[in-house]
Amino acid sequence: MSAEVARVRAQVAALHGELVRYGLVAWTAGNVSARVPGRDLMVIKPSGVSYDDLRPDNMIVCDLDGVVVDGDLSPSSDTAAHAYVYRAMSEVGGVVHTHSGYATAWAARGEAIPCHLTAQADEFGGEIPVGPFALIGGDDIGKGIVATLSGHRSPAVLMRNHGVFTIGRDARAAVKAAVMCEDVARTAHLTRALGEPAPMARADIDALYDRYQNVYGQPGTSRPNP
Ligand SMILES: [Zn+2]
Repeated sequence: MSAEVARVRAQVAALHGELVRYGLVAWTAGNVSARVPGRDLMVIKPSGVSYDDLRPDNMIVCDLDGVVVDGDLSPSSDTAAHAYVYRAMSEVGGVVHTHSGYATAWAARGEAIPCHLTAQADEFGGEIPVGPFALIGGDDIGKGIVATLSGHRSPAVLMRNHGVFTIGRDARAAVKAAVMCEDVARTAHLTRALGEPAPMARADIDALYDRYQNVYGQPGTSRPNP
């Protein structure tokens, strides 16, 4: 395996720690994957292994059909969904899946998160959409993610009755989108509990999104979304 595969193995193993740090996962239910740049390969976590035990050497390398190329354990049960996204969306370099509580509560009700916050306008450019209900195993989850996010500003989709999938130009960006999705969902939930949110003008959402995606951050660093 090349140095690039080794680098992606280390990155994917480490990023799972962020899911734990931000409280997005329970037990082993959540996963990060990354495309190996320039290769038709992805790296994903093994199925059912504690986050404490994830290391670069027990990550699983698969081809973009989800077939294991290198690794001793079975890959995540969500591998088919991740692989479908990489096949369909060439600009995506990272995929994350969680059942984070507030965002998944919106998914359970099948309701998109409307944009009433500047932070949501920045990262998501509007509402966070709902994707279709789909059973795990085949391509249905991947198809639902791609159908919902293609041409959409949001890097996150709330898969109905299931949970969150996010995409990014790399795995770190997809993890960030998962963290921000849960943060926005929590605030949106609290807002609903308190009453009716104040509306935001579409032009203001557009201006915030444009500034954050194109100007925010340090010069020369890569931008948030693919
Ligand atoms: Zn799931």
